[in-house]
Amino acid sequence: MEDLVVVGGGVIGLSCAWRAAQAGWRVTLRDPAPASGSSWVAGGMLAPVTEAWPGEEGLLELGLESLELWPAFAEELSAAAGQPAGLHPEGTVVAATGSGDRAELDALAGHLGRLGRPVERLSGRELRRLEPGLGPDVRGGLSVPGDLSVDNRALLAALRAAAEKAGVVVEERAWEPGDTTDAAGFVLICAGARSAALHPGLAGLVRPVKGEILRLTHRHGAFPVPTRTVRALVDGRPVYLVPRPGGLVVGATQSEHGFDTEPTVGGVRDLLRDAERILPGIAEYTLAEAAAGLRPGSPDNVPIVGRLDGRTLVATGHSRNGILLAPLTARLVAGLLAGAPVPPAVDPARFGRTGT
Ligand SMILES: Cc1cc2nc3c(=O)[nH]c(=O)nc-3n(C[C@H](O)[C@H](O)[C@H](O)COP(=O)(O)OP(=O)(O)OC[C@H]3O[C@@H](n4cnc5c(N)ncnc54)[C@H](O)[C@@H]3O)c2cc1C
Repeated sequence: MEDLVVVGGGVIGLSCAWRAAQAGWRVTLRDPAPASGSSWVAGGMLAPVTEAWPGEEGLLELGLESLELWPAFAEELSAAAGQPAGLHPEGTVVAATGSGDRAELDALAGHLGRLGRPVERLSGRELRRLEPGLGPDVRGGLSVPGDLSVDNRALLAALRAAAEKAGVVVEERAWEPGDTTDAAGFVLICAGARSAALHPGLAGLVRPVKGEILRLTHRHGAFPVPTRTVRALVDGRPVYLVPRPGGLVVGATQSEHGFDTEPTVGGVRDLLRDAERILPGIAEYTLAEAAAGLRPGSPDNVPIVGRLDGRTLVATGHSRNGILLAPLTARLVAGLLAGAPVPPAVDPARFGRTGT
Protein backbone atom coordinates (compact mmCIF):
# COMPACT_ATOMS: atom_id res chain seq x y z
CA MET A 1 0.00 0.00 0.00
CA GLU A 2 1.48 3.39 -1.02
CA ASP A 3 1.06 6.80 0.63
CA LEU A 4 -0.69 9.69 -1.04
CA VAL A 5 -1.03 13.19 0.40
CA VAL A 6 -3.89 15.12 -1.18
CA VAL A 7 -3.40 18.88 -0.78
CA GLY A 8 -6.79 20.60 -0.63
CA GLY A 9 -10.21 19.45 0.53
CA GLY A 10 -12.49 21.07 -2.05
CA VAL A 11 -14.62 19.06 -4.45
CA ILE A 12 -11.56 18.04 -6.48
CA GLY A 13 -9.34 16.98 -3.57
CA LEU A 14 -12.15 15.11 -1.81
CA SER A 15 -13.28 13.29 -4.98
CA CYS A 16 -9.72 12.25 -5.83
CA ALA A 17 -8.96 11.22 -2.23
CA TRP A 18 -12.10 9.07 -2.09
CA ARG A 19 -11.29 7.32 -5.38
CA ALA A 20 -7.62 6.81 -4.41
CA ALA A 21 -8.58 5.26 -1.06
CA GLN A 22 -11.02 2.95 -2.87
CA ALA A 23 -8.11 1.88 -5.10
CA GLY A 24 -6.05 0.91 -2.06
CA TRP A 25 -3.89 4.00 -1.46
CA ARG A 26 -3.17 5.12 2.11
CA VAL A 27 -4.49 8.69 1.78
CA THR A 28 -3.99 11.74 3.98
CA LEU A 29 -5.87 14.87 2.97
CA ARG A 30 -4.39 18.15 4.20
CA ASP A 31 -6.44 21.38 4.32
CA PRO A 32 -6.58 24.04 7.06
CA ALA A 33 -10.25 24.66 6.21
CA PRO A 34 -11.74 21.79 4.17
CA ALA A 35 -14.81 22.53 2.05
CA SER A 36 -14.53 26.28 2.54
CA GLY A 37 -13.18 27.34 -0.86
CA SER A 38 -14.75 27.80 -4.26
CA SER A 39 -16.54 24.44 -3.98
CA TRP A 40 -18.52 25.68 -0.96
CA VAL A 41 -19.53 28.92 -2.64
CA ALA A 42 -20.38 27.51 -6.11
CA GLY A 43 -23.74 27.42 -7.87
CA GLY A 44 -23.54 23.68 -8.50
CA MET A 45 -24.63 23.68 -12.13
CA LEU A 46 -23.69 20.59 -14.13
CA ALA A 47 -24.25 22.42 -17.35
CA PRO A 48 -21.74 21.86 -20.14
CA VAL A 49 -24.21 22.63 -22.94
CA THR A 50 -25.54 25.94 -21.62
CA GLU A 51 -21.95 26.89 -20.61
CA ALA A 52 -20.64 26.19 -24.12
CA TRP A 53 -18.60 29.03 -25.59
CA PRO A 54 -17.31 29.10 -29.15
CA GLY A 55 -13.59 28.31 -29.06
CA GLU A 56 -13.99 25.98 -26.04
CA GLU A 57 -15.04 22.82 -27.87
CA GLY A 58 -12.48 20.71 -25.97
CA LEU A 59 -13.94 21.85 -22.66
CA LEU A 60 -17.46 21.02 -23.88
CA GLU A 61 -16.33 17.46 -24.66
CA LEU A 62 -14.80 17.05 -21.17
CA GLY A 63 -17.94 18.51 -19.59
CA LEU A 64 -20.23 16.16 -21.50
CA GLU A 65 -18.06 13.19 -20.54
CA SER A 66 -18.23 14.16 -16.87
CA LEU A 67 -21.97 14.90 -16.99
CA GLU A 68 -22.51 11.35 -18.23
CA LEU A 69 -20.65 10.04 -15.16
CA TRP A 70 -22.69 12.13 -12.73
CA PRO A 71 -25.82 9.98 -12.08
CA ALA A 72 -23.79 6.83 -11.26
CA PHE A 73 -21.21 8.87 -9.32
CA ALA A 74 -23.96 10.47 -7.19
CA GLU A 75 -25.67 7.14 -6.58
CA GLU A 76 -22.46 5.41 -5.53
CA LEU A 77 -21.46 8.38 -3.38
CA SER A 78 -24.84 8.53 -1.57
CA ALA A 79 -24.62 4.82 -0.81
CA ALA A 80 -20.99 5.02 0.36
CA ALA A 81 -21.56 8.13 2.49
CA GLY A 82 -24.95 7.13 3.87
CA GLN A 83 -26.28 10.60 2.99
CA PRO A 84 -27.55 12.29 -0.18
CA ALA A 85 -25.02 13.55 -2.72
CA GLY A 86 -27.44 16.36 -3.65
CA LEU A 87 -27.98 15.63 -7.37
CA HIS A 88 -31.04 17.49 -8.73
CA PRO A 89 -32.29 15.62 -11.80
CA GLU A 90 -34.29 18.45 -13.42
CA GLY A 91 -32.84 20.22 -16.44
CA THR A 92 -32.13 23.81 -17.45
CA VAL A 93 -33.94 26.53 -19.35
CA VAL A 94 -32.19 29.54 -20.82
CA ALA A 95 -34.17 32.79 -21.01
CA ALA A 96 -33.53 35.94 -23.01
CA THR A 97 -35.04 39.39 -22.53
CA GLY A 98 -34.15 42.01 -25.17
CA SER A 99 -33.46 41.46 -28.88
CA GLY A 100 -29.68 41.54 -28.33
CA ASP A 101 -29.97 38.74 -25.78
CA ARG A 102 -32.15 36.70 -28.13
CA ALA A 103 -29.57 37.15 -30.89
CA GLU A 104 -26.88 35.82 -28.51
CA LEU A 105 -29.01 32.77 -27.75
CA ASP A 106 -29.55 32.25 -31.50
CA ALA A 107 -25.77 32.24 -31.86
CA LEU A 108 -25.40 29.71 -29.01
CA ALA A 109 -28.13 27.47 -30.50
CA GLY A 110 -26.46 27.70 -33.93
CA HIS A 111 -23.05 26.87 -32.44
CA LEU A 112 -24.45 23.83 -30.60
CA GLY A 113 -26.33 22.71 -33.72
CA ARG A 114 -23.11 22.80 -35.75
CA LEU A 115 -21.47 20.64 -33.05
CA GLY A 116 -24.28 18.09 -33.46
CA ARG A 117 -25.97 19.10 -30.17
CA PRO A 118 -29.22 20.72 -31.26
CA VAL A 119 -31.23 22.41 -28.49
CA GLU A 120 -34.97 23.13 -28.37
CA ARG A 121 -35.96 26.77 -29.07
CA LEU A 122 -38.96 28.05 -27.10
CA SER A 123 -41.07 31.21 -27.14
CA GLY A 124 -41.58 33.22 -23.96
CA ARG A 125 -45.03 31.66 -23.54
CA GLU A 126 -43.65 28.12 -23.95
CA LEU A 127 -40.94 28.83 -21.38
CA ARG A 128 -43.53 30.16 -18.91
CA ARG A 129 -45.51 26.95 -19.37
CA LEU A 130 -42.43 25.07 -18.09
CA GLU A 131 -41.55 27.61 -15.39
CA PRO A 132 -44.59 29.73 -14.48
CA GLY A 133 -42.50 32.08 -12.33
CA LEU A 134 -40.68 33.57 -15.34
CA GLY A 135 -41.57 37.24 -15.73
CA PRO A 136 -43.12 39.06 -18.71
CA ASP A 137 -39.71 40.41 -19.82
CA VAL A 138 -38.68 36.88 -20.87
CA ARG A 139 -39.25 36.80 -24.63
CA GLY A 140 -37.81 33.45 -25.62
CA GLY A 141 -35.12 30.93 -24.92
CA LEU A 142 -33.97 27.34 -24.91
CA SER A 143 -34.75 24.13 -23.07
CA VAL A 144 -31.78 21.89 -22.24
CA PRO A 145 -33.14 19.01 -20.14
CA GLY A 146 -29.73 17.29 -19.90
CA ASP A 147 -27.96 20.13 -18.04
CA LEU A 148 -28.49 19.33 -14.34
CA SER A 149 -27.41 20.71 -10.96
CA VAL A 150 -26.20 19.51 -7.59
CA ASP A 151 -26.43 20.97 -4.10
CA ASN A 152 -22.69 21.56 -3.75
CA ARG A 153 -22.79 21.74 0.05
CA ALA A 154 -24.60 18.41 0.36
CA LEU A 155 -22.07 17.04 -2.14
CA LEU A 156 -19.07 18.17 -0.07
CA ALA A 157 -20.53 16.66 3.10
CA ALA A 158 -21.16 13.36 1.31
CA LEU A 159 -17.68 13.32 -0.22
CA ARG A 160 -16.01 13.89 3.13
CA ALA A 161 -18.11 11.17 4.78
CA ALA A 162 -17.42 8.68 1.97
CA ALA A 163 -13.71 9.52 1.90
CA GLU A 164 -13.33 9.04 5.65
CA LYS A 165 -15.29 5.77 5.53
CA ALA A 166 -12.91 4.60 2.78
CA GLY A 167 -9.96 5.33 5.10
CA VAL A 168 -8.89 8.87 4.15
CA VAL A 169 -7.38 10.71 7.11
CA VAL A 170 -8.23 14.42 7.09
CA GLU A 171 -5.63 16.69 8.72
CA GLU A 172 -6.79 20.26 9.18
CA ARG A 173 -3.48 22.00 8.46
CA ALA A 174 -1.81 23.47 5.40
CA TRP A 175 0.73 21.66 3.25
CA GLU A 176 3.82 23.51 2.05
CA PRO A 177 6.31 22.57 -0.63
CA GLY A 178 9.16 20.68 0.97
CA ASP A 179 7.12 19.19 3.81
CA THR A 180 9.49 16.40 4.69
CA THR A 181 6.89 14.07 6.21
CA ASP A 182 5.49 13.57 2.72
CA ALA A 183 8.81 12.60 1.13
CA ALA A 184 8.09 8.87 1.09
CA GLY A 185 4.91 8.96 -0.96
CA PHE A 186 3.13 10.85 -3.69
CA VAL A 187 1.59 14.30 -3.41
CA LEU A 188 -1.50 15.41 -5.35
CA ILE A 189 -1.97 19.18 -5.48
CA CYS A 190 -5.68 20.17 -5.52
CA ALA A 191 -5.43 23.54 -3.77
CA GLY A 192 -7.76 25.38 -6.15
CA ALA A 193 -6.85 29.03 -6.79
CA ARG A 194 -3.91 28.73 -4.37
CA SER A 195 -2.22 25.91 -6.32
CA ALA A 196 0.25 28.04 -8.30
CA ALA A 197 2.42 28.76 -5.23
CA LEU A 198 2.80 25.07 -4.38
CA HIS A 199 4.97 23.85 -7.29
CA PRO A 200 7.25 25.65 -9.77
CA GLY A 201 5.55 23.77 -12.62
CA LEU A 202 2.31 25.64 -11.79
CA ALA A 203 3.75 29.15 -11.38
CA GLY A 204 1.69 31.59 -13.42
CA LEU A 205 -0.69 28.87 -14.64
CA VAL A 206 -3.45 29.10 -12.02
CA ARG A 207 -5.03 32.44 -11.10
CA PRO A 208 -7.97 33.41 -8.87
CA VAL A 209 -11.11 34.48 -10.73
CA LYS A 210 -13.54 36.07 -8.28
CA GLY A 211 -17.25 35.22 -8.39
CA GLU A 212 -19.99 36.73 -6.21
CA ILE A 213 -23.09 34.66 -5.53
CA LEU A 214 -26.26 34.86 -3.40
CA ARG A 215 -28.42 32.40 -1.54
CA LEU A 216 -32.14 33.18 -1.22
CA THR A 217 -34.63 31.37 1.00
CA HIS A 218 -38.25 30.86 -0.01
CA ARG A 219 -40.77 32.44 2.38
CA HIS A 220 -44.30 31.28 3.06
CA GLY A 221 -46.69 32.69 0.46
CA ALA A 222 -43.96 33.68 -2.01
CA PHE A 223 -43.97 32.36 -5.60
CA PRO A 224 -42.64 28.75 -5.60
CA VAL A 225 -39.01 27.94 -6.37
CA PRO A 226 -38.59 26.98 -10.06
CA THR A 227 -38.15 23.29 -10.82
CA ARG A 228 -35.28 23.73 -13.26
CA THR A 229 -32.13 25.82 -13.32
CA VAL A 230 -32.90 29.10 -15.05
CA ARG A 231 -30.04 30.76 -16.88
CA ALA A 232 -30.59 34.11 -18.52
CA LEU A 233 -29.10 37.00 -20.37
CA VAL A 234 -30.33 40.38 -19.17
CA ASP A 235 -29.12 43.24 -21.35
CA GLY A 236 -26.05 41.18 -22.16
CA ARG A 237 -25.28 40.18 -18.54
CA PRO A 238 -25.47 36.48 -17.64
CA VAL A 239 -27.32 35.48 -14.48
CA TYR A 240 -28.47 32.09 -13.21
CA LEU A 241 -30.93 30.83 -10.62
CA VAL A 242 -30.35 27.29 -9.37
CA PRO A 243 -33.04 25.57 -7.28
CA ARG A 244 -32.15 24.23 -3.85
CA PRO A 245 -34.38 22.63 -1.23
CA GLY A 246 -36.25 25.65 0.18
CA GLY A 247 -34.58 28.29 -1.95
CA LEU A 248 -32.36 29.42 -4.78
CA VAL A 249 -28.76 30.21 -5.57
CA VAL A 250 -28.30 33.34 -7.71
CA GLY A 251 -24.99 33.83 -9.48
CA ALA A 252 -22.55 34.93 -10.45
CA THR A 253 -20.26 37.87 -11.16
CA GLN A 254 -16.81 37.41 -12.67
CA SER A 255 -13.78 39.64 -12.11
CA GLU A 256 -10.08 39.40 -11.32
CA HIS A 257 -8.98 41.08 -8.06
CA GLY A 258 -6.30 38.77 -6.67
CA PHE A 259 -7.41 36.83 -3.60
CA ASP A 260 -10.29 39.15 -2.64
CA THR A 261 -13.27 37.14 -1.35
CA GLU A 262 -15.47 39.99 -0.13
CA PRO A 263 -18.86 40.37 -1.82
CA THR A 264 -19.47 43.96 -2.95
CA VAL A 265 -22.62 46.10 -2.87
CA GLY A 266 -22.41 46.51 -6.64
CA GLY A 267 -22.17 42.75 -7.23
CA VAL A 268 -25.15 41.99 -4.98
CA ARG A 269 -27.20 44.80 -6.56
CA ASP A 270 -26.52 43.64 -10.14
CA LEU A 271 -27.33 40.01 -9.37
CA LEU A 272 -30.59 40.85 -7.59
CA ARG A 273 -31.70 43.34 -10.25
CA ASP A 274 -31.10 40.89 -13.11
CA ALA A 275 -32.54 37.88 -11.26
CA GLU A 276 -35.70 39.81 -10.42
CA ARG A 277 -36.23 40.70 -14.10
CA ILE A 278 -36.26 36.95 -14.81
CA LEU A 279 -38.17 35.69 -11.75
CA PRO A 280 -40.07 38.65 -10.24
CA GLY A 281 -41.34 36.48 -7.38
CA ILE A 282 -37.92 36.45 -5.70
CA ALA A 283 -38.65 39.92 -4.33
CA GLU A 284 -40.55 38.11 -1.56
CA TYR A 285 -37.68 35.73 -0.73
CA THR A 286 -35.16 36.24 2.09
CA LEU A 287 -31.62 37.24 1.14
CA ALA A 288 -29.87 34.61 3.25
CA GLU A 289 -26.25 34.90 2.13
CA ALA A 290 -23.94 36.90 -0.09
CA ALA A 291 -20.53 35.34 -0.69
CA ALA A 292 -17.61 35.39 -3.07
CA GLY A 293 -15.27 32.61 -4.12
CA LEU A 294 -12.19 32.17 -6.26
CA ARG A 295 -12.46 29.99 -9.34
CA PRO A 296 -9.09 28.38 -10.06
CA GLY A 297 -8.58 29.81 -13.55
CA SER A 298 -6.23 28.17 -16.05
CA PRO A 299 -4.84 29.84 -19.19
CA ASP A 300 -7.25 27.94 -21.50
CA ASN A 301 -10.05 27.32 -18.92
CA VAL A 302 -9.32 23.59 -19.24
CA PRO A 303 -8.27 21.75 -16.03
CA ILE A 304 -4.65 20.89 -15.35
CA VAL A 305 -4.49 17.19 -14.44
CA GLY A 306 -1.33 15.12 -14.63
CA ARG A 307 2.21 14.66 -13.41
CA LEU A 308 4.43 17.60 -12.40
CA ASP A 309 7.50 15.56 -11.42
CA GLY A 310 8.37 12.06 -10.28
CA ARG A 311 6.32 12.24 -7.07
CA THR A 312 3.99 15.20 -7.58
CA LEU A 313 0.66 15.09 -9.37
CA VAL A 314 -1.83 17.89 -9.90
CA ALA A 315 -5.58 18.29 -10.40
CA THR A 316 -6.56 21.95 -10.52
CA GLY A 317 -7.43 24.85 -12.84
CA HIS A 318 -11.08 23.81 -13.18
CA SER A 319 -12.14 27.44 -13.63
CA ARG A 320 -15.96 27.73 -13.73
CA ASN A 321 -16.60 23.96 -14.08
CA GLY A 322 -15.00 22.19 -11.11
CA ILE A 323 -18.20 20.75 -9.69
CA LEU A 324 -19.24 19.43 -13.11
CA LEU A 325 -15.77 18.00 -13.79
CA ALA A 326 -15.21 16.33 -10.38
CA PRO A 327 -16.22 12.75 -11.36
CA LEU A 328 -14.11 12.83 -14.52
CA THR A 329 -11.13 14.39 -12.71
CA ALA A 330 -11.25 11.75 -9.98
CA ARG A 331 -11.34 9.05 -12.66
CA LEU A 332 -8.34 10.59 -14.48
CA VAL A 333 -6.36 10.82 -11.23
CA ALA A 334 -7.18 7.21 -10.33
CA GLY A 335 -5.85 6.27 -13.77
CA LEU A 336 -2.68 8.32 -13.24
CA LEU A 337 -2.07 6.61 -9.89
CA ALA A 338 -2.40 3.28 -11.67
CA GLY A 339 0.19 4.36 -14.26
CA ALA A 340 -2.14 5.39 -17.11
CA PRO A 341 -1.55 8.60 -19.10
CA VAL A 342 -4.02 11.52 -19.10
CA PRO A 343 -5.49 13.00 -22.29
CA PRO A 344 -3.12 15.63 -23.76
CA ALA A 345 -5.88 18.28 -23.43
CA VAL A 346 -5.58 18.28 -19.61
CA ASP A 347 -1.89 17.35 -19.23
CA PRO A 348 0.20 20.14 -17.64
CA ALA A 349 2.84 19.23 -20.25
CA ARG A 350 0.74 21.22 -22.76
CA PHE A 351 2.22 24.39 -21.23
CA GLY A 352 5.77 23.11 -21.76
CA ARG A 353 6.71 23.54 -18.09
CA THR A 354 7.02 20.08 -16.54
CA GLY A 355 10.15 18.05 -16.11
CA THR A 356 8.94 14.52 -15.45
C1 LIG B 1 -19.36 32.03 -7.64
C2 LIG B 1 -18.94 30.71 -8.21
C3 LIG B 1 -19.87 29.89 -8.82
C4 LIG B 1 -19.49 28.68 -9.37
N1 LIG B 1 -20.45 27.89 -9.96
C5 LIG B 1 -20.09 26.68 -10.48
C6 LIG B 1 -21.07 25.84 -11.05
O1 LIG B 1 -22.26 26.18 -11.07
N2 LIG B 1 -20.67 24.63 -11.56
C7 LIG B 1 -19.37 24.23 -11.55
O2 LIG B 1 -19.06 23.15 -12.05
N3 LIG B 1 -18.41 25.02 -11.00
C8 LIG B 1 -18.74 26.24 -10.48
N4 LIG B 1 -17.79 27.05 -9.94
C9 LIG B 1 -16.38 26.63 -10.03
C10 LIG B 1 -16.05 25.63 -8.96
O3 LIG B 1 -16.49 26.13 -7.72
C11 LIG B 1 -14.55 25.36 -8.94
O4 LIG B 1 -14.05 25.04 -10.21
C12 LIG B 1 -14.25 24.19 -7.99
O5 LIG B 1 -14.91 24.38 -6.76
C13 LIG B 1 -12.77 24.04 -7.76
O6 LIG B 1 -12.60 23.05 -6.76
P1 LIG B 1 -11.21 22.85 -6.06
O7 LIG B 1 -11.36 21.69 -5.14
O8 LIG B 1 -10.14 22.80 -7.10
O9 LIG B 1 -10.94 24.21 -5.26
P2 LIG B 1 -11.52 24.74 -3.87
O10 LIG B 1 -12.92 24.35 -3.65
O11 LIG B 1 -11.22 26.22 -3.86
O12 LIG B 1 -10.66 24.00 -2.79
C14 LIG B 1 -9.29 24.23 -2.63
C15 LIG B 1 -8.94 23.88 -1.21
O13 LIG B 1 -7.52 23.93 -1.07
C16 LIG B 1 -7.22 24.37 0.24
N5 LIG B 1 -5.84 24.85 0.26
C17 LIG B 1 -5.31 25.96 -0.31
N6 LIG B 1 -3.98 26.02 -0.05
C18 LIG B 1 -3.66 24.92 0.70
C19 LIG B 1 -2.44 24.42 1.26
N7 LIG B 1 -1.27 25.06 1.13
N8 LIG B 1 -2.48 23.25 1.97
C20 LIG B 1 -3.65 22.57 2.10
N9 LIG B 1 -4.83 23.00 1.57
C21 LIG B 1 -4.82 24.16 0.88
C22 LIG B 1 -8.26 25.45 0.51
O14 LIG B 1 -8.44 25.64 1.91
C23 LIG B 1 -9.50 24.86 -0.18
O15 LIG B 1 -10.34 24.17 0.74
C24 LIG B 1 -18.14 28.26 -9.34
C25 LIG B 1 -17.21 29.06 -8.69
C26 LIG B 1 -17.60 30.27 -8.12
C27 LIG B 1 -16.59 31.12 -7.41
